Amino acid sequence: MDEFDCAVIGAGVVGLAVARALALAGREVIVLEAEGAIGTGTSSRNSEVIHAGIYYPAGSLKARLCVEGKQLLYEYLGQRGLPHRRCGKLIVATAPAQVEQLEAIRAKARANGVEDLVLLTREEARTLEPQLECVAALSSPSTGIVDSHALMLSLQGDLEGAGGVLALKSGVAQAQCADGVIVLTAQDGTALRCRSVVNAAGLGAPALARRFEGLPPSVVPRDYFAKGSYFTLTGRAPFTHLIYPVPEPAGLGVHLTLDLGGQAKFGPDVQWVDSPEDLVVDPARGEGFYAEVRKYWPALPDGALAPGYAGIRPKISGPGEPAADFRIEGPEAHGVAGLVNLFGIESPGLTSSMAIARHVASLLP
Ligand SMILES: Cc1cc2nc3c(=O)[nH]c(=O)nc-3n(C[C@H](O)[C@H](O)[C@H](O)COP(=O)(O)OP(=O)(O)OC[C@H]3O[C@@H](n4cnc5c(N)ncnc54)[C@H](O)[C@@H]3O)c2cc1C
Repeated sequence: MDEFDCAVIGAGVVGLAVARALALAGREVIVLEAEGAIGTGTSSRNSEVIHAGIYYPAGSLKARLCVEGKQLLYEYLGQRGLPHRRCGKLIVATAPAQVEQLEAIRAKARANGVEDLVLLTREEARTLEPQLECVAALSSPSTGIVDSHALMLSLQGDLEGAGGVLALKSGVAQAQCADGVIVLTAQDGTALRCRSVVNAAGLGAPALARRFEGLPPSVVPRDYFAKGSYFTLTGRAPFTHLIYPVPEPAGLGVHLTLDLGGQAKFGPDVQWVDSPEDLVVDPARGEGFYAEVRKYWPALPDGALAPGYAGIRPKISGPGEPAADFRIEGPEAHGVAGLVNLFGIESPGLTSSMAIARHVASLLP
């Protein structure tokens, strides 16, 4: 049986960042990825926004790791010359009753250490974005965008440079955890003996953990899938900032994000689905987008939106329940030596990836 000190399951942005951190700390690391390429899961189906750390409850892992991750990410992207832009974002109140929500968002951000939000009047916001309609807006200057594929390739490069190995088409089927050793069995029956395992399988993490013999089932959360569809704007957007409405339950509202080429997309909306494979965008959902977007961009032309792509949020809280925090659980939480499970790594997981990596490394001395 092959042996490795440490196996990371999943080559999304989080698995790659974790594997890189462990390899740079001198550990022998293999990344086991079910697909034939890195980053084909949620990591390539998101908004590619570097979040400021605004919305999350103070003291939560999401708040802490987003703020720390944002800083680590900007430093890393700058050092490596990777494509990104600190374009800033405006959170807009489109009805007078929402202005209070902007104040509450600013207070929440302050509690998370994000001190740079500025409340703008309608006129100030329209000086920045003349086509924007709102009654007030919050400006978040530290929000940005990143090329997530360039980031993942760079993380992979660092991993391999530090002696780490990436094994594609190597889906893990199950594990046996006993006596400080974890034996992973692949779908083809081959087995790998490890001292440490990080379950960074994204949407598949809870289902996989349920197939870990020796891990109490009570420590594995129920999984839920919240699909988010995007519609792309045909033609150029008249905006230079990201534009967000005030948040809605389970998501951040139908917002406008830009990619590094200036192409705009709207979304993601929220649709609870049964399967993590349900990735087809229903063109009919576009109808609802027009009304949402015109609340802040009344000049959106008819017929300007085309179905784009969809991503699925790896939720561990269901419809109507309060949003769950990230669950990053090591031996102290579940009693299995050498194992770290990552559950519920939805947004801001991309932003937080390098801070999550640090945190996971600290759980695996
Ligand atoms: C619609 C949407 C928008 C988002 N927007 C943002 C944003 O703007 N900013 C932000 O910070 N975050 C955002 N996020 C969150 C972010 O995309 C995720 O937190 C992040 O990509 C999660 O990365 P991951 O590596 O944990 O998961 P994934 O990218 O899903 O990677 C998991 C990997 O594990 C592999 N795998 C699964 N099962 C197995 C197995 N049994 N064996 C081996 N491999 C396996 C999969 O093939 C996959 O490659 C968004 C998420 C969604 C859904």
